[in-house]
Amino acid sequence: MDDCIFCRIVKKEIKSEIVFENEYVIALKDIDPKAPVHLLIIPKKHIVSINDINKENLEVICKIFETIPIMAKKFNLKSYRIVSNHGEESGQSVFHLHIHLLGGRVMGWPPG
Ligand code: AMP
Ligand code: ZN
Repeated sequence: MDDCIFCRIVKKEIKSEIVFENEYVIALKDIDPKAPVHLLIIPKKHIVSINDINKENLEVICKIFETIPIMAKKFNLKSYRIVSNHGEESGQSVFHLHIHLLGGRVMGWPPG
């Protein structure tokens, strides 16, 4: 996807603060952080959102979820929240699947 910002970040065509990378995923610092720690965990493969997960690409979700506790440990997070938006009304603005990992402050519940 040539015009997808996260595909371009994965290909290193756009500079970003990558904090973790393996064959399947990258984790990077969100450019507009909503918490002291705000990472995005992104599959290297272009998938629009969680709504496009199916039997064929399910492995990507395992790889993303495997990365979450690794990042929590790396950033010393005792508490954290993960969020993934699907669709514009939820707040999705980049249409390449990503999980927000937020921590380092008290989180309100329920979210707005
Ligand atoms: P969402 O609104 O759930 O689709 O989340 C997209 C997130 O990507 C937002 O929190 C943005 O701040 C973040 N974002 C957009 N462009 C970049 C970028 N170039 N580097 C890092 N984060 C970005
Ligand atoms: Zn993409």
